[in-house]
Amino acid sequence: MAQATSPPNTSESNPYLQMRARLDLASKLLQLDPGVYDILSTPFQELTVSVPVKMDNGSLRVFTGYRVQHSIARGPAKGGIRYSPEVSLDEVRALSAWMTWKCAVVNVPFGGGKGGIICDPRRMSQGELERMTRRYTANILDIIGPERDVPAPDMNTGERTMAWLMDTYSMHTRATTTAIVTGKPVGLGGSLGRREATGLGVAFTAREALKHLGMPDQGCSVVVQGSGNVGGLAAQFLHEMGHKIVAMSDMYGGIHCEAGLDIPAVLQWLKDKGRLEGFPGSIAVENAALLTLPCDVLVPAATENQITSTNAEDIKAKVIVEGANGPTSAAADAILERRGVFVAPDILANAGGVTVSYFEWVQNRMGYFWEKQDVFDRMERIMVDSFRDVVQAAEKYQTSARIAAYCLSVERVAYCLTMRGIYA
Ligand code: NAD
Repeated sequence: MAQATSPPNTSESNPYLQMRARLDLASKLLQLDPGVYDILSTPFQELTVSVPVKMDNGSLRVFTGYRVQHSIARGPAKGGIRYSPEVSLDEVRALSAWMTWKCAVVNVPFGGGKGGIICDPRRMSQGELERMTRRYTANILDIIGPERDVPAPDMNTGERTMAWLMDTYSMHTRATTTAIVTGKPVGLGGSLGRREATGLGVAFTAREALKHLGMPDQGCSVVVQGSGNVGGLAAQFLHEMGHKIVAMSDMYGGIHCEAGLDIPAVLQWLKDKGRLEGFPGSIAVENAALLTLPCDVLVPAATENQITSTNAEDIKAKVIVEGANGPTSAAADAILERRGVFVAPDILANAGGVTVSYFEWVQNRMGYFWEKQDVFDRMERIMVDSFRDVVQAAEKYQTSARIAAYCLSVERVAYCLTMRGIYA
């Protein structure tokens, strides 16, 4: 198993280099054509826009926004838009490439894209966020569209943001175009089940990983980092499956209860108070310490670069199911692999979201909507089949589940590139 994942010499804090390190390992195993490798290691298109916004106090501020399309070989670019002070071009590049690999792992007909604006949304009013979203949309209008690039929510954006984006695009094109974004409000063409999809997909992946490893299907101890759309719902579904969530966190810190947290009560507390801190019957735990708590399953569902060469030796979980994008560095991969920790990689584990986004796009184009259980059942089939495909690829290439997932997706994207040929 070890030969494919020797520690790469890259900066752990640069997500794009982390993505490239995995692509390099998979390309070597696949004996990928060097020209195809060059195409896949370079984003297809990048747009940087300046976004002027009239602030509520009458001043004018200029924000920087990005939209990167890593690949359109398998279909329109697909991927979220993130609002955060930490957004950078390399982060957006990495996230857009991860979308390419993710869509290919679950075999939905999309390429990969991602967007972001450098801003602190917690310090902005709804009006300021709306004006920023609309101007950003107008500035990237030429490269997006239902057949070109379909945005979605990511950190600090949600269905309200998607509704503004959809309306701005529709005003410009003079036609209500619901298929321009996914993750919209259900009343505005969103899909039932999209809100729950990523967290539920994470829970399905955890279930399949436990089955694969011969571990119990109930009663496992679980630690979840992050309690937003992904972490909160993953905790809820794993709790409903009969597992014991012993710790959870948000950006302010974590809560720990060895006997198991009452997850519905935790989520209600979070809704009421805006943070987990102080949940009755729990003790406080810092985010760094939370990751190394004793548990069977660890679900990092907050942000990138949480499990690195600094803490990978101390991780006690037997299974890591990556809800977040890029939570583990390439150097940490090698340490975890040596220590026998099974990692269900991000591009597989959190793909339930983009799978249901694909269903949303299909429903918008059909103008016909499915019931929630139908959405969940179709997504479950795709997640189970994809887990099986990744495990089979791991056996075929004698590598980790992460590099196997890359092998599977790189092979699928390379096939489309090769069949389409180079337009000259
Ligand atoms: P969110 O904004 O709803 O929640 C993020 C959570 O992480 C919050 O609880 C926040 O307090 C916490 N957090 C933020 N920074 C943190 C830090 N430094 N330490 C600890 N906790 C921190 O975002 P989300 O939609 O749940 O996304 C979480 C991750 O999952 C991101 O990496 C995102 O790209 C990825 N993802 C999201 C989806 C989706 O459908 N929402 C799909 C695939 C992947």
